[in-house]
Amino acid sequence: MRITGFLLFILTTVFLCNGINLQAQSHDWSYSGEFGPEHWFEIDPEFSSCNGKSQSPINIISSNSEDTNGISLEFHYHPFFVDLINNGHTLIEKIDEEKALTFGGISYSMKQFHFHTPSEHQIDGENFAMEIHFVHQSESGKFAVVAVLIEEGEHNNHFIQHFMKSLPSHVNEELKADEKADPNETFPKHLDKFYYYSGSFTTPPCTEGINWIVLEEPVEATKEQIDAIHEIIKDDNRPIQEVNDRVVFHSSSN
Ligand SMILES: [Zn+2]
Repeated sequence: MRITGFLLFILTTVFLCNGINLQAQSHDWSYSGEFGPEHWFEIDPEFSSCNGKSQSPINIISSNSEDTNGISLEFHYHPFFVDLINNGHTLIEKIDEEKALTFGGISYSMKQFHFHTPSEHQIDGENFAMEIHFVHQSESGKFAVVAVLIEEGEHNNHFIQHFMKSLPSHVNEELKADEKADPNETFPKHLDKFYYYSGSFTTPPCTEGINWIVLEEPVEATKEQIDAIHEIIKDDNRPIQEVNDRVVFHSSSN
C-alpha cells in the first residue's frame, strides 16, 4: 500500500509539473505563485495592461466617493437556461441577451456572468464572502460589469440555488439543466444605490476602460452555498489595486 501510494505521488507530481509547463507555454495565469497576480503583466505582452493605472478591483472608500445623483441604471434581465461551465479559473455562464442593461443612456447586451470567492471589491476595507460579475457589452464594444456583493446569511440565494444541484467541480465540466435561473433574484432591493468608476477586467488581459457598477447593498447566500462554490473555485479574487487619480462616483437615487 505504501509503495502504491508513493508511486501515485510520483505520477501525480509528474503530471502536475507537466501541467504547469503546458500552462506556461499557453500563457496561462493563476491566483498565486509563479503565475500569480503580481506577475500577470510579464507573463504575456498582451497582459501588459495588468500593470496599468486604472485597474480593478479597488477598495471603495464611501466617504471619498462623489455624489452624482441621476445617472440612469436599468436592468432588463430575463430568466435563462442554466449552462454553467468550470473554466479552470471560475464558474461561468455565457449568455447573449440583447438590451439587458441600460447605463447612462447606453444599451448593453449581457455576455456572461461568473463568481469570485471571496469578493474582489472592498467597501471601506471590507471584503464580502462572494461577488458575482455580470459582464455586458454595448454595440460599440464598450464593456460594463455589474458587481453583486454577497454576504453570508440565513437565507438561500434563489439565483445561486439553481446551480447547486450539480456544480461543475472539474475543469471543462459543464452543468446544463432544463431549468431557468432568474438573475433578478440575486439583486438587492435598492438598485438605485451603487458605486461606479472606470476600471479594468480583474483577470488577464486586464483591459482598461471598463465601466464598473458595484451595487451598494450586499445580498445574502447561505454558508452552504458559499462553501460549495468556494470549494470548486478556491480563492479567485485579485488583490485590490491602487485607485490613483480616479474618482469613484456614488448614486443613491435615480
Ligand atoms: Zn470577475
